[in-house]
Amino acid sequence: MLSKEISNSLGEREFRVLVVHLILSKETEKAIDLVCKRFGARVPSLAIGIPKGHKKALAVYEINSNSIKFADKDSFFDPFVVLHELYHCLRSSSGKHRGTEKNADRFAGSYIREYNSFLSSKKSKVQFSPTGSEGRRRKSRL
Ligand SMILES: [Zn+2]
Repeated sequence: MLSKEISNSLGEREFRVLVVHLILSKETEKAIDLVCKRFGARVPSLAIGIPKGHKKALAVYEINSNSIKFADKDSFFDPFVVLHELYHCLRSSSGKHRGTEKNADRFAGSYIREYNSFLSSKKSKVQFSPTGSEGRRRKSRL
């Protein structure tokens, strides 16, 4: 379990990587909880099933009930969809305005970009690390 103290002590980049990682690990509730705590927003309730009139949407944020409704499990575990709707939730807590679609996409995109650059930096580290083969060679020599 991640405590509030740990998530608050993370830098902005690490925090974004963690949030995307959690959603991809099917821990959407935990990710939303962390973001809301960090931004001091009310945690929205989550449900699968889109209300009538929004059938084409992947997800919808409802300000009156402070809830995010997802079309299906795919969108529930899609970091871009989750963070886009979460942006509307964060923006709505302080007033009536839900934030623009453009800014919601930008918010979600900034998290995904941070996660992708973390992944590629990690990949190159794994590639150049000799630890695995070195360890095995040393063992066979003994
Ligand atoms: Zn939107």
